[in-house]
Amino acid sequence: MNIPKSSYPRIVIIGGGFGGISLVKKLARKEVQVVLLDKHNYHTFQPLLYQVSTGGLEPDSIAYPIRKVLKDYENFYFRLAEVKGIRPEQKQVETNIGPLAYDYLVVATGSETNFFGNDEIAKNGMSMKSIPESLNLRSLILENFEQALLTDDLHERDALMNFVIVGGGPTGVELAGALAEIKKGILPKDYPDLDTRRAQINLVQSGNRILNAMSEQASKKAEDFLEDLGVQVWKDTRITSYDGKVAETLTELTFRTATLVWAAGVKGALLHGLDGEALLAGGRIRVNEFNQVEQWPNIFAIGDVACAVSDSFPRGYPMMAQPAIQQGKNLGENLVRLLEGKAMKPFVYWDKGSMATVGRNKAVVDLPKFRFQGVFAWFVWMFVHLFFLIGFRNRMVVFINWVYNYVRFDREARLIIRPFNRDYKAFKD
Ligand SMILES: Cc1cc2nc3c(=O)[nH]c(=O)nc-3n(C[C@H](O)[C@H](O)[C@H](O)COP(=O)(O)OP(=O)(O)OC[C@H]3O[C@@H](n4cnc5c(N)ncnc54)[C@H](O)[C@@H]3O)c2cc1C
Repeated sequence: MNIPKSSYPRIVIIGGGFGGISLVKKLARKEVQVVLLDKHNYHTFQPLLYQVSTGGLEPDSIAYPIRKVLKDYENFYFRLAEVKGIRPEQKQVETNIGPLAYDYLVVATGSETNFFGNDEIAKNGMSMKSIPESLNLRSLILENFEQALLTDDLHERDALMNFVIVGGGPTGVELAGALAEIKKGILPKDYPDLDTRRAQINLVQSGNRILNAMSEQASKKAEDFLEDLGVQVWKDTRITSYDGKVAETLTELTFRTATLVWAAGVKGALLHGLDGEALLAGGRIRVNEFNQVEQWPNIFAIGDVACAVSDSFPRGYPMMAQPAIQQGKNLGENLVRLLEGKAMKPFVYWDKGSMATVGRNKAVVDLPKFRFQGVFAWFVWMFVHLFFLIGFRNRMVVFINWVYNYVRFDREARLIIRPFNRDYKAFKD
C-alpha cells in the first residue's frame, strides 16, 4: 500500500463512517500513524439517503470527501480499499489492494441490509444503505412512472405506481412520507396524462406499531401523520416473498408492485477472520466496555458493527449515529491513554434522544425529558441534521435546497442520471 514506515505505532481504521471519522479527529496531532481504509472515498450521511432517493437532494450534498477530513493532519493516510478479511495472528488486514500490517486495528465498517436469508427478496427488492443504492431507487421510481404512461393495462399501471416499503422504522417512515408528498405535489404536474391519484404508498410493519424504538406517543402521531398524507400503514403484517411482481404476506393479503423497498433490518458488516461465532453477539462483533475485542486486545470495534452488551443495553447500543460518534471519541482518547501506559476509560453512552420526520411540518422527537411532535419537532429535526452534516458547503446546499423545496413545493433532483434498467418485459409477462 506504500505507507511509509514510522517510529509511531500504526493504527489502522476500517471505515470512514460516523464512528471512523470521529475517531480520526480525536487522533489528530497525537504520536501515532493512522491509516484509514474505506471502499468509498467519501463519508455518507445516511440519515438523508431517503431524500436522495426521492429527488429532494443531490447525492453530493450528503457525501464528503474523506481525504478532505484528513488534509491538515500529519502521519494520516487514506487508501481507497475494500477490506476482505483480518488475520489477527499476523496483525494484518487483507484488502483488494494488498495486505497491511497494524499495531492496533479498529473495525468501524457499519452495517448492511439484513434480508434474514430471504434471497428472493434480496434479489428483487431495493435497499437504501448507500448513495449508489439511493440513486438506483430514485431512477426506478421515476422509470416506473415513465413506464406507467406507456401501458393501457390498468392492473399493470397500478402495479407500476404501487410502492411497498417494508419496515416501519425511521427509514421506512421517512421514505413513505416523502413518496406521499411527491404523489401529492409533483406527480400531478409532471404526469398530467396519468391518473396519479391511483398511486399507492404502503408501509408494512411486522410489529404492532411503527417507530417501535420510540415512545408510543411518537408512534401514534407518526402513524396519524402518514395517514393524513395518504400512506396506507399495514401493521402486524409480515412480507414473506417478492418475485419482482407480487409481494406475499403471511395472510391472504398480497401487493402487486414493481417496487418493494426493504428497510426491515440491518446486520453488522462483518469481516472474514473476525466473524467466528465466539467473537459475535447478535451478529455484531462483541466488545467490552472499552470497545475492545477481548480475544484480541489490540483489535477494537465501534459503531453499528460493534456490540457492547450491558445490563442497560442487553442487545448492545442502538445502531444509530450517536453511539458510533461517541464511541469513536472515547476510543480516540483511550488509544492515546493506552500508548501512554494509562488505564482506559469505559465507554458511557449519552442517549440524546431520537427523532423522525414524516414530511413538511411533520416530525416526532423523543428527548430524554421531553417529547413533542409537529412543526417545532420538524424544525428541530432539520437543525440537528444540518448540524451533524460534515462540511460547510454541504450544510449550505442542503439548507438552500430545503428552503427552496419548502417555498416551491418542489424536488428538482428528480432525474434519471444513471438508469436502473429494470426488466419491464419480465414484469409485464
Ligand atoms: C437510510 C438510513 C437512515 C438512517 N437514519 C438515521 C437517523 O436518522 N439517525 C441516526 O442516528 N441513525 C440513522 N441511521 C443509522 C446510522 O447511519 C448508522 O448507525 C451509522 O452510520 C453507523 O455509523 P458507523 O460508523 O458504524 O458506520 P457507517 O457510517 O455505516 O460507516 C461504515 C463505513 O465503512 C465502510 N466499509 C464497510 N465495509 C468496508 C470494507 N469491507 N472495506 C472498506 N470499507 C468498508 C463503508 O464504506 C462506510 O464508509 C440511518 C441509516 C440508514 C441506512
